[in-house]
Amino acid sequence: MGRATVRFYAELNDLVLPERRFRDSEVEFAGSPAVKDVIESLGVPHGEIELVLLNGRSAAFGDRLRDGDRVAVYPAFEAFDIGELASVRAAPLRKPRFVLDGHLGRLAAYLRMLGFDVLWQRQPSDAELARTSADERRILLTRDLGLLKRTQVTHGLFVRATEPEEQLREMVERLHLERLAQPFTRCLRCNAALESVELAAVESELPPRVRERVREVRRCPGCGKLYWAGTHHDRMSAFIARVLGRFLPSGGR
Ligand SMILES: [Zn+2]
Repeated sequence: MGRATVRFYAELNDLVLPERRFRDSEVEFAGSPAVKDVIESLGVPHGEIELVLLNGRSAAFGDRLRDGDRVAVYPAFEAFDIGELASVRAAPLRKPRFVLDGHLGRLAAYLRMLGFDVLWQRQPSDAELARTSADERRILLTRDLGLLKRTQVTHGLFVRATEPEEQLREMVERLHLERLAQPFTRCLRCNAALESVELAAVESELPPRVRERVREVRRCPGCGKLYWAGTHHDRMSAFIARVLGRFLPSGGR
């Protein structure tokens, strides 16, 4: 039997047993297993990981553990800049796009409300989700740890929160989305980027009271739905302000 010391950093500690949280802990193994397999056996899917240090040097997931090794595991999308140290994955995704698991429909709509490109289907297969994430370089969000352990998934996050508004807040915080949000620029129904239209061109499609009041209307090129600042919009603005807090420019849209 070999033994190594393992330490997990930041939010990766949510995923491991309490006795392994925020401290060095020992792991026993037979032979010389891959770093990825040992880490995943402790509960952390590789898609959550940005950097593994093996005896102080950046390691690849396929590197083999030997007796006496020290392993430090850092989460993906950490706030600090690990720059050129990271070698377990290709360059991080700078402008996040997402594919969401079927059980995260509300979160998908909320992320679109903030302007993010989000693919979502009610009943996707695991294989489909993994493939879309890899092929289109989208961050896979799910509450299914098994899905994140698929080798294909290089950018995946396990969503800790269970309530949709909390889930959105969690994602904003972990991925620093407040700086990238562009509220009300994307269709909530079909994910297409909204286009500005001349008021005169759509006047006949607007309810009379709206026609008198609005100055700006946007249309979804995908499904044709019109968007304008109405009462629903005000409710959503309040919601977004709650989630983004001080980061949202005042009067924001
Ligand atoms: Zn649409």
